[in-house]
Amino acid sequence: MKENQECDVQGCKNPAVKTVPGEKAREIFSLKNETRRAHLCKEHYKEFKKRTKKEKEIERLGWVR
Ligand SMILES: [Zn+2]
Repeated sequence: MKENQECDVQGCKNPAVKTVPGEKAREIFSLKNETRRAHLCKEHYKEFKKRTKKEKEIERLGWVR
């Protein structure tokens, strides 16, 4: 990852630490760019993981029933 890459979330100026699929990130955040790969800072990545995990859990619960 390039240095000085900024988080792609609107209004966020933190340095990016992770890259995630843009379409997934767009479901959760509003992004600065129309990008296929969204760069996320530590905080936003944490939130991204939390949200995507929750979705998966809901799916799993639905499956079990
Ligand atoms: Zn951020």
